[in-house]
Amino acid sequence: MDTHPVNKNQKSFREPPRALVATPASGRLSMTAPAARGLTFNRCTQCGKSFPASLEYFPSAKEKRDGLSSWCRACHRTNDARYRRIHREARRAHDSKYFADHPEAARAKTIVKRAIGTGRLERPEHCSKCGRSCKPDFHHPDYSRPLDVVALCRRCHKAVHVEAKALRKLRNVLSKEPHDG
Ligand SMILES: [Zn+2]
Ligand SMILES: [Zn+2]
Ligand SMILES: [Zn+2]
Repeated sequence: MDTHPVNKNQKSFREPPRALVATPASGRLSMTAPAARGLTFNRCTQCGKSFPASLEYFPSAKEKRDGLSSWCRACHRTNDARYRRIHREARRAHDSKYFADHPEAARAKTIVKRAIGTGRLERPEHCSKCGRSCKPDFHHPDYSRPLDVVALCRRCHKAVHVEAKALRKLRNVLSKEPHDG
C-alpha cells in the first residue's frame, strides 16, 4: 500500500526539444535556471497536475533549489482562501466572546454601527494613526462615550489595545506593591 503517493511525483521531468533552447548570453537567466528556460515541468504535490516550471504557474519559494513552490498557484489560492475563511471564523468567535464578556464594548459597537447606518458617522478610508488606506476599525478610548471614536487600521488598533493592556497590568502591579513603613 502506498500511503504517500505524492512523493514519487515530486521529481521534475525534462522536456525533450533541446534545439529550442537558447543559451542566455547575459548569464542572468542561468540564475533561475532551469525554471526560467521553461525546460522542465513540475508536478504540483497538492493537486498532482503538471505545469511548466515557471513563476507563471508556481509561486516563488526561496528555499527550493529551483526557486519554485511545490504547490501550483491554483492550489495556493485555494489554500489561502481556506486559511482566510478559518481565520475569519476564529476572529468572529473571538469577537463574540469578547463582546459577551464586555457588554459596554458591545453597546458602544452597536451604537457606532447604527451611526454609520444613519450617516451620522462616516468611516474614513485611512487609518488616522499610520495613514495606511484601509477600512479602519473604530476604536473607543472610552466606551462610555460611544461616538467618540478613533479610526484605526487593524494593526494600529491591535497595538493600541496591547499597549492599554500592558498599562493596566503595570498599574495593577504598582497598586499591589508593598509600602515601606
Ligand atoms: Zn496544484
Ligand atoms: Zn494604522
Ligand atoms: Zn479598540
